Amino acid sequence: MNQLESRIQRELARLREIGRERSLSSSLVQGARMRFEGREVLHFASNDYLGLSFDSRVREAAQIASMRYCAGATGSRLISGNHPELVMLEAELASWHGAEASLVFSSGYAANIGVISALAQPEDVIFSDELNHASIIDGCRMTRSKVVVYRHADLEHLYRLLRETRCQGQRFVVTDAVFSMDGDIAPIGDLLGVARRFEAVTVLDDAHGVGVLGTKGAGTLESLGIPVADDIVVIGTLSKALAAQGAYVAGRRILIDYLVNRARSFIFSTGLAPSCAGAARKARKIAEHEAWRREKVLSLSAVLRAGIRKLGYLVLDGSTTIVPVVVGDEHNVMEMSDFFLKKGVYVPAVRPPSVPEGQCRLRLCVTAAHETSDIERVLAIFGEWKQIAHNDYLVTSLVKGGERR
Ligand SMILES: *Cc1c(COP(=O)(O)O)cnc(C)c1O
Repeated sequence: MNQLESRIQRELARLREIGRERSLSSSLVQGARMRFEGREVLHFASNDYLGLSFDSRVREAAQIASMRYCAGATGSRLISGNHPELVMLEAELASWHGAEASLVFSSGYAANIGVISALAQPEDVIFSDELNHASIIDGCRMTRSKVVVYRHADLEHLYRLLRETRCQGQRFVVTDAVFSMDGDIAPIGDLLGVARRFEAVTVLDDAHGVGVLGTKGAGTLESLGIPVADDIVVIGTLSKALAAQGAYVAGRRILIDYLVNRARSFIFSTGLAPSCAGAARKARKIAEHEAWRREKVLSLSAVLRAGIRKLGYLVLDGSTTIVPVVVGDEHNVMEMSDFFLKKGVYVPAVRPPSVPEGQCRLRLCVTAAHETSDIERVLAIFGEWKQIAHNDYLVTSLVKGGERR
């Protein structure tokens, strides 16, 4: 075996030894049900928050766009891939957010690395929340700017770092609007206040807020009544509540013109396929007009959060569709997830590197495709687990898991 292979083998063996080797399972989500490893289960595992990915209107829109135009975009947007479906989608996204313009990327990952690396120059400083999504972290790594990490949602810490860090260029504050593993919302109103004192531009990744929050579903900023301004760059995904694939940036026209010229993950990547753009357009329209979907998923999430907490588990504070139950220990969280699966419910366990060491958790995502009876069913299993697990162990694991805050 060559050197590379033996190195790879060593690394896989190491992951296996510490119980962290990951592998793919066959899965197919259809609403609140899912085929998982050949079994039909109830699940709390998808980001399809409004239940639109399985909606026949959205799937039909994908089909129609595909038949009207073509299956793939055939090239980079700057060469041949700028089909009409994308142009219409961008206009609709911009007006939804009250922004001058928007630009679609092929994924949220591509949008974050493309935007951050295009905007931040070597003389700039980026201030980044410690729990930001991996794509933001990678975007920061691709710049030659100084990157300063502030404690999660800690605005005093952010303020101090902004004051203490010398910067000869532009300051940026980058944050998830809704944190993907914790489900809490960044203190955006006050954060903008702090950022503005230092003339910093705020980049907000609203992957989990778009479609779910706000009267029109335009996301976290809309829900807080904060208009998109020239010192805010909003990034949203088409792959979560909007049921398709891809992502976008919304902001000033001049910003979008610049990204078209400078965002490498935009320039050197094929445009989003017509089917995805068509599906996203339809889902966005439905998301805007069927407010009951947002109301339903948020109220089911609140019932679930309160119910699990009442049973004595540590549920992180939040008001979104993401309900994290912190268990702490890696072995315990896997055992719990297996227990749920045996009962016919798939509840994914999240472990490092997705969360910090010692903070393993079950992460339940509620969708508008769930019903009250589904919530009751999973709550009953949490109750059963509590009976089975020694109370001692439940308590210590909770205390351990709760150390961070
Ligand atoms: C999911 C997610 C992304 C990545 O989006 P994709 O479209 O899946 O690439 C980016 N940021 C956050 C906060 C996310 O949760």
